[in-house]
Amino acid sequence: MLRVLSVLFLLVLTLSALSDKEILKRANSFINASKKSDQFRAYNDFKHLYLRALINEDTTLKYSALVGIVKSGSKLHIDISHYKKELASIAQKNIKKERVFKAKSSLVSSKYQAVTSPRGVRNKIIVIDAGHGGKDPGAIGYKNYKEKVVVLQIAKRLKKILHARGYTVYMTRDSDKFIKLRNRTRFANKKNADLFISIHANAVDKKSAKKAYGLECYFLDKSRSSRAKRVSASENKADLKDMNFYGKESFLNTLNTHNIVAANKLAIDLQRSALGTLSKRFKNVKDAGVRSGPFWVLVGAQMPAVLVEVGFITHPREARRLVNSKYQDSMAIGFANGIERYFQNN
Ligand SMILES: [Zn+2]
Repeated sequence: MLRVLSVLFLLVLTLSALSDKEILKRANSFINASKKSDQFRAYNDFKHLYLRALINEDTTLKYSALVGIVKSGSKLHIDISHYKKELASIAQKNIKKERVFKAKSSLVSSKYQAVTSPRGVRNKIIVIDAGHGGKDPGAIGYKNYKEKVVVLQIAKRLKKILHARGYTVYMTRDSDKFIKLRNRTRFANKKNADLFISIHANAVDKKSAKKAYGLECYFLDKSRSSRAKRVSASENKADLKDMNFYGKESFLNTLNTHNIVAANKLAIDLQRSALGTLSKRFKNVKDAGVRSGPFWVLVGAQMPAVLVEVGFITHPREARRLVNSKYQDSMAIGFANGIERYFQNN
């Protein structure tokens, strides 16, 4: 089983190594397809390219990606107004001005200060869920660092920042205790949360430990990739009873389409912002993608819910960063900015 999984994993790694040009070519070939699923593939490819363009500050790629997102998104009736605006601003060649403005404003802004202060978002309620806890350590990685410890530290930092920006924030746990998966979203529902964010760290077996690293965001949907299956299988195993409770596959029929689309957007905003903030201060920060997967911890949430894998705790360099307070802070600031951006646009 492990061998099959690692072969699958390598396959996924090879796929993710596709060049921008290759992905662009594939996306453009799918954009005019008659099948909805192919159009979705194109849309996802363009969004992936958009993220890459942001990280590499590649304006040409960003432009192509935005054109693709707008075109494929309109076909699928996805709200792409935010991307449309951005596309328009690129067309007006305002990029240089924007960069100067950003550089200036980042000099002035303190770390707890909001990117902007939009009206009406201050009364939002956010539930932060630090994965695992108590008898369930989650993944154990490099130097025996434990997932449950790292994710709680990041969750606490994120809470502090969001709180300072005026949001109402609750945590499913603020100490080392075990909480059943289903009680985590139940808690968020009870609090009438607008968003649910579950924080985790990824892991692979020893053989791949030095290869696999990067930040990933997941939202709940039918699993499409083998990578999503692998990660969700590992995150789900803590609470097998819950799987029976939800009747395995049947829950997928109860998924709320509006929340899936919203969660997809949230995942993109979180991924974008975290990568942006981290790569300003650290080298080799990797975008491992935004994906959908069948995560039980997200099941039952009555609000947009995402699961972030902050990095691979099995990767020597990334694990050292994950326990580093500066890295944790950058990550938390990135997530907070992503949340803010999400609320501005939705
Ligand atoms: Zn986990």
